[in-house]
Amino acid sequence: MNPIRTTCPYCGVGCGVLVSRAGDGWNVRGDPDHPANFGRLCSKGAALGETLDLDERLLHPEIAGMRATWDAALDTVAERFAAVIAEHGHDAVAFYVSGQLLTEDYYVANKLMKGFIGSGNIDTNSRLCMSSAVAGHKRAFGTDTVPGCYEDLEIADLLVLVGSNAAWTHPVAYQRIVAAKKARPDMRIVAIDPRRTATCDIADLHLALKPGSDAWLFKGLLNHLKREDALDWAYIEAHVAGFGAALPAVSGYSIPGVAASCGLDEADVAEFYRLFAATAKTVTVFSQGINQSSSGVDKVNAILNVHLACGRIGLPGATPFSITGQPNAMGGREVGGLANQLAAHMEFTPEGLDRVGRFWNAPNLARQPGLKAVDLFQAVAAGKIKALWIMATNPAVSLPEADRVVEALRACPFVVVSDVVANTDTSVHAHVKLPAAAWGEKDGTVTNSERRISRQRPFLDLPGEARPDWWIVNEVAKRMGYSAGFGHAGPAEIFAEHAALSAFENGGTRDFDLGGLLAPPFEKGGRGGDLATVPPAQSSEKSPPAHLLQRGECFSLAAYDTLAPFQWPVTSSGGTARMFSDGRYFTPDGRARMLPVMPRPPLHAPDARHPFTLNSGRIRDQWHTMTRTGKTARLLAHIDEPYLEIHPHDAHRLGLKDGALARLANDNGEMLARVRESREQQVGSVFAPIHWSGRYSGRGRVGALVSAVTDPLSGQPEFKQTPVAVAAYPAAWHGFVLAREELASAGAAEGGYWAKVRGKSCWRHELAGDEPPAEYIEKLRTRLDRPGDWIAMQDGAASRHRGALIRDGRLLAVYFLEREADRLPPRHWLESLFERDALSDAERHALLLGRPPQDAPDCGRIVCACFGVGEQTLAEAIAAGAASVEALGIKLSAGTNCGSCIPELKRLLRAQRPAAG
Ligand code: SF4
Repeated sequence: MNPIRTTCPYCGVGCGVLVSRAGDGWNVRGDPDHPANFGRLCSKGAALGETLDLDERLLHPEIAGMRATWDAALDTVAERFAAVIAEHGHDAVAFYVSGQLLTEDYYVANKLMKGFIGSGNIDTNSRLCMSSAVAGHKRAFGTDTVPGCYEDLEIADLLVLVGSNAAWTHPVAYQRIVAAKKARPDMRIVAIDPRRTATCDIADLHLALKPGSDAWLFKGLLNHLKREDALDWAYIEAHVAGFGAALPAVSGYSIPGVAASCGLDEADVAEFYRLFAATAKTVTVFSQGINQSSSGVDKVNAILNVHLACGRIGLPGATPFSITGQPNAMGGREVGGLANQLAAHMEFTPEGLDRVGRFWNAPNLARQPGLKAVDLFQAVAAGKIKALWIMATNPAVSLPEADRVVEALRACPFVVVSDVVANTDTSVHAHVKLPAAAWGEKDGTVTNSERRISRQRPFLDLPGEARPDWWIVNEVAKRMGYSAGFGHAGPAEIFAEHAALSAFENGGTRDFDLGGLLAPPFEKGGRGGDLATVPPAQSSEKSPPAHLLQRGECFSLAAYDTLAPFQWPVTSSGGTARMFSDGRYFTPDGRARMLPVMPRPPLHAPDARHPFTLNSGRIRDQWHTMTRTGKTARLLAHIDEPYLEIHPHDAHRLGLKDGALARLANDNGEMLARVRESREQQVGSVFAPIHWSGRYSGRGRVGALVSAVTDPLSGQPEFKQTPVAVAAYPAAWHGFVLAREELASAGAAEGGYWAKVRGKSCWRHELAGDEPPAEYIEKLRTRLDRPGDWIAMQDGAASRHRGALIRDGRLLAVYFLEREADRLPPRHWLESLFERDALSDAERHALLLGRPPQDAPDCGRIVCACFGVGEQTLAEAIAAGAASVEALGIKLSAGTNCGSCIPELKRLLRAQRPAAG
């Protein structure tokens, strides 16, 4: 069987992957021909083949927790939505959708809500990651257009990474930058981030600015460029409006003033400004660190202002570049998945409404934008929304004030959840659950951060009664009486309709245009998708009539099947790598807009009760709420628990020990997390990851702390600057249980701490509790009640309790409890004992000591997830003479596959061999 060419379902880099059979499983490798990654994959993409099992899958529809037929479930959804609309109006219902959906799924969901139900109440979890970039683009360019492409990151002479830990969040894009820097050491990289992240590893200059102060820095940059006469006056004259207001607005922003506002050294600010002024080929990459702010849109426009003033837009190696979080955040933007947009990048204007309404033949088109994510769930809480359909997302974990979201879900009269996972923090509150297709089963398209549309192709049969999201939406639509608009036979027809709408009465007036695809070579199949074959005769004005396009008659199934990755817009000469190279924008006068933005500090400042600024974000090897990445032990080997990164100075002041537990709290909620001291944090700031849900931890959701304050224009929440109090968590005991099976609620005491870690051959349960240890052990033994011999030791005075259950020489479970967390032994060797059929005498003797017999190695915490290379093994190799990343690669293979661990390898080298570092 030829490999299936498809796309990674995780981040916005949108890497192409090849999937082929390997014995009973699947081999997933990077697609060398995909222009996003040219064969590379990060640790998450490389582990995709390990996440395909059906454990925890939702395989059948459910109503009120009971298995139901599809007919019953779909009828129930349609009837309840129709009843709410009839009684309370169309704005009493809402959809909350996701950047995990394929474009085709997204398209029909938006069409149903905005075109036929007649409400704007469909919003997406992409609101949480990039809606400020959308709003900033629209203010500056007239459209939500990312001007550049990934090649620009490689050919820039100066790359500015602001609010982006690309090394962890967009690893393959980062690897492309690393390779470019290696090939051209003169390339300069500036990282702007309050934290010294793994991304800073390749930076020539790191500006560790005060959290939230980015707009001051970029306003100062514009002022400096003006003073240094480094602006492109000809470009401004020909292509930019608003300069007259934007320039005076930066006049007071001197280098000393900016340095003081941003908490930076004047010399560092001056060096950044000097580099920017002197380097025509400059790319500024920005991401969640900019967007997730109550003034995110202004920050975006502060960046765009600078690029516009220098004419550095859409040119090779010279552009601003917003990099998106999710695999199909861009696709959602294209179909109108945001509550304040219509489909195909059209707006809620009279013209947009008229055009979309005619194209869809929509009986009841929404006339005004709907509620954005945070407002939408507040409306649920207030009882205004009485029927809510959540697709492919987990807002009970990911939205701000997550505990209030849970309360809102509990109170909502009718909640529908379509998901691949049987039980999530959200779906446990659903009245109807609908089993959706997962990656590997889905068929459709996604758009990555550089506007590149790629196919996701199925290679697995749909399991159980799972169905594609587009099918589910269409079936509900038909049952609501809208058969005419939702009769698509498959995703190809939906894509054709989407493409046709993009071209409908376009004529070059709108940025998003796929009209060039609807052309003979595609119609016939041919090489379908090779844009070199798109004939020049095709133009938007000559697109076939809408009624043909709507039926997908101008885009064949064969063409869709073989569609190769391409970048929109598709013009007569094919796809488009860069936008605005000609200086023409989609504004009424064709000019871009500079704006006199006014920097604002985070809405909620730290105070005496909540003195720390909490930053939240992703980690290297996990994705969203871990529903997929949590399935593979390999990806949990790097970071396995919710953690709090804190500067040693703060940790010391608070009496927090590295590896102990901390409690973070504010008026919204609380979170428990494992302490990690790090000088990469600023004093007064802390970081916690977003991934842990109720599935893998007790009290580990960072969303419970984040305030529901949003940018007034974009509605994007301020995830990066939340005031919190931090204190040691005073547990009576700390411990862990390793067992062959997963223990329900980890056997933890009510109200205590627990985190579950899937290991290679066992489950690890990290615990802390308040009840007497003996009581907990009794409960645990009852839970593990099975034939076997317990061996145990107890030192009451030291509060030390250890035990193991063994049957026929095989280890079934082991527990260790101590008063202090740092007295617990390392876990790796103990976990490895579960891989044995029988323990040796030496292992049995060493078992309750918690450390290997002298001749057995302990590899330590895993750093290289691809090859399972641990910290201890690396330390020994470095001590034995390995003095570089390359040497570690030769000796241990570490860092030689996906490369995601290279920044950490460098850090270990620096720590152990400061001279080499
Ligand atoms: Fe997937 Fe990693 Fe590529 Fe992102 S960088 S698309 S997670 S392989």
